[in-house]
Amino acid sequence: MTRRIALALVLLLLTTASAQAEKMKALIIDGQNNHGMWPKTTMMMKSYLEATGLFSVDIERTSFTKNGDNLLKQYPLNDGKKYVTGQAKTDPNFKPEFSKYDVVISNFGHGAAPWPEATQASFVEYIKNGGGLVVVHAADNSFGNWDEYNRMIGLGGWGGRNEKSGPYVYLDDNGKLIRDESKGGGGHHGPQHDFQIVVRDESHPITQGMPTAWMHVKDELYDKLRGPAENMTILATAYADKAKGGTGRHEPMLMTIDYGKGRVFHTPMGHADYSQECVGFIVTLQRGTEWAATGKVTQKIPDDFPKQGATSQRKFD
Ligand code: ZN
Repeated sequence: MTRRIALALVLLLLTTASAQAEKMKALIIDGQNNHGMWPKTTMMMKSYLEATGLFSVDIERTSFTKNGDNLLKQYPLNDGKKYVTGQAKTDPNFKPEFSKYDVVISNFGHGAAPWPEATQASFVEYIKNGGGLVVVHAADNSFGNWDEYNRMIGLGGWGGRNEKSGPYVYLDDNGKLIRDESKGGGGHHGPQHDFQIVVRDESHPITQGMPTAWMHVKDELYDKLRGPAENMTILATAYADKAKGGTGRHEPMLMTIDYGKGRVFHTPMGHADYSQECVGFIVTLQRGTEWAATGKVTQKIPDDFPKQGATSQRKFD
């Protein structure tokens, strides 16, 4: 080998090593969800985030898991840990080192057991001190009685949420923000369908460059979400058509919440694997996660992004 080639190889190795060292660290947390699809959607989100080249992604799972038993076999973690299926109970050993990560993505769902108190406290501390959080679909169903969690996610549904949790928040036909204090449960959706997302804030790093309206692949259109909604910005909405079992309101679909020094990105989309194959879901997850981690978005909107009246889907194997 000539000296020149050897030098080039060393430089290449150094460059590769430093590029890897510069990757941000993301953590997906899961284990208990009313959606049996969760072991697969965790792997989908991991692959979407890694595909950006920006993140290395770890997964931490409660040792007691609930639902998704078959998919757990198909998409195992192979981390050598022992998991007990069929139980949504508090895992005393669920203690992720949140502070090691730039951003945490929650794939918990309805019916998840509370975390140990020390874990809750370290999570609150992590976000307050500038950590990032991404809330996906039924993660806004979890932990209805945990006040600080409800502040982080802005709005939530089910899990015992009602008027004590905060107002219903939505936009009226004139685009005016409504905070509706009326009584009633939080969270509802009609039958699943493709629906249109309307961008309401085109200047935010997450939505910048997106079509003003784009079609989302078949999903549950969450409506009647309610919560403290403090320091929350609604980036996009979807019209919950009464003909499709909805409220007749423009429901928040992409939100950001400032919580202490932390940044939270919340998408109520992502019910099933096909919903998460929507390029709109993939790209908003990728951009929202980068924003939650850094406050900026460096990724381009891809050419296959959905358009007004046209969905776009990438098959996940
Ligand atoms: Zn769902």
